[in-house]
Amino acid sequence: MENLYCLRCNRELESGNKSVAVYMFAQTVGIRPRQKSAAKRICFCPQCAVSLAMGPPPEGALNLAAWEMIRELVSSDPALNEAAWEALQVFTRTLPDNGTEAIARPAVGGYLEF
Ligand SMILES: [Zn+2]
Repeated sequence: MENLYCLRCNRELESGNKSVAVYMFAQTVGIRPRQKSAAKRICFCPQCAVSLAMGPPPEGALNLAAWEMIRELVSSDPALNEAAWEALQVFTRTLPDNGTEAIARPAVGGYLEF
């Protein structure tokens, strides 16, 4: 089982973790022999998926296509938002009271900088 990381914040997504997967492959059309690339799986943690969906459209046609798909997921059912909310709660509980960064702070920089 390969280790998966959120494309945006680089958080490790262990198997069983909630995440959004974007599958991508390329294939030739109208060309013989037909060729097909390996399928790639791109993962986002729930927080990044929701954050991306709420944010402005990205640049680039492929980014835009993925953004529209993630927006569709986030807007069609609150389950993904709830997963992001739960993960954020776990994270804020690990912060010490004095506001300094926890030593075992997960890699959420990309999320917070958004
Ligand atoms: Zn992430």
